[in-house]
Order: sequence, then C-alpha cells, then structure tokens
Amino acid sequence: MKIAIDGPSGAGKSFLAKALAAHYGIIHVDTGALYRAIGLYAQRQGIALEEVEKICGLLDGINVSLAFSSEGQRVLLNGEDVSDLIRTPEISMYASAVSAFPPVRSFLLETQRSIAREHSVIMDGRDIGTVILPDAQVKIFLVADNRARAERRCIELKEKGIDTSVEEVLADMNKRDENDRTRTTAPAVAAEDAVLLDNSGLNREETLQAAIQIIEGIIKE
Ligand code: C5P
Repeated sequence: MKIAIDGPSGAGKSFLAKALAAHYGIIHVDTGALYRAIGLYAQRQGIALEEVEKICGLLDGINVSLAFSSEGQRVLLNGEDVSDLIRTPEISMYASAVSAFPPVRSFLLETQRSIAREHSVIMDGRDIGTVILPDAQVKIFLVADNRARAERRCIELKEKGIDTSVEEVLADMNKRDENDRTRTTAPAVAAEDAVLLDNSGLNREETLQAAIQIIEGIIKE
C-alpha cells in the first residue's frame, strides 16, 4: 500500500501521516526531513541562503538516509542523527531553498522510491503524488487556511522550546510556500487524481477520520 500526502507547510501532514501509519500499521516517511538535512549541511558549510545553489556542487560529500523504528523516523546526515537539529525556522528556510534545485531533487529521488519499493508507506511531502509515487493508490492534498496553519506551527515550535510569534511564523510560511509552489521542478501542487482535504475547521481526530474515510472509499472501489 502506498499513500501520498502532500500539501503546504503547517497543514498538518506530519500529524496525519503519523496517525494513519499507526492506524494501518505501516511506516511513515517524512520526506521534508531529507531536504532539511541537505539544508543543514549547506548552513554548516557556511553557505549563505542567497547563494545556496552552491550546494549542488557539494552533493558528492553528502550521505542522507532514513532509519525507522517503533519510535518513528530518524534522519542521518553522513552518519550523524540530525533529526532534532533540522527543526528550526532557519533550517526550514534552507530546506525550501535547496529543494528548488533539480540536482538536489534527483539526489533524493531514489532514497524515497526505494523505501516505497520495500515497504508499505504513508509518505508525506510536496511532490509525492506528482513525482515520487505517481502510482500511489491514495493521494491526499491536505490544506488549511493560513491562520490555522501558522497557529499550529507556532504551537509545535513552542513545544520544541523555540519562542516565536504567529505573525513571524506566517511570514516565513508564506515565503516558503511561495518558493515551493512556484519552482519549476516538482512544484508543490496537487496531483490531478489527488483528493483535496481542507482541515481548517477540523481537529486532529476529525482530520484523521476524514482521511480514513477517503482511503477506505478509494480502496473499496
Ligand atoms: O515538510 P517540511 O516542512 O519539513 O519540508 C521542508 C521543505 O522541504 C519544504 O518547504 C519544501 O521546500 C521541501 N520539500 C520538498 N519536497 C518534499 C518535501 C519537502 O520540496 N517532498
């Protein structure tokens, strides 16, 4: 079984994908972590955000892999577990910047596809339904209005000890979504056969139930 969940940042993809993975007993692959790891590498190399294209010349020195356990996914950058370090607002911006370059996307393509060849997966990202798993049985494009997305992301960041405001998060998110939606390669848009799920007015449990209904409806067909 392959289920693709795409959508803009803060729409709740990660929560939904995790909850669905637990419900169906399969693994959750958070593909954003791969771009974040490359973003972290660029930042550590002292590459400024404006000249992040330089990362394309350094890909040979990078090894990014994902490891799965009952606790979820960990991301390894040249053998180092960077799962927690990649969750800062600065690395979010780096991830979005590096993800626009075709060499970076091709570099990560096989890592993502090979996991889906070996396991049943719920994979979340921006181009899962369009590029990575165009043959996924179910594709959900999860959206929520701006305010709801910014408020949720702000709470997540605060839980991680990062103090920020809804306005700041909203500005960053809008910039990142604009980058992601308008890039030429693998823009973050819904696949033609994706089901749109707007969870602005839904809580987590309601979102999960709505997604299960979509999945069961498609699988029954
Ligand atoms: O999902 P997350 O917010 O962790 O993703 C970080 C960034 O990685 C996104 O803003 C996007 O630019 C990029 N990304 C992508 N394709 C994916 C997943 C993430 O371009 N499949």
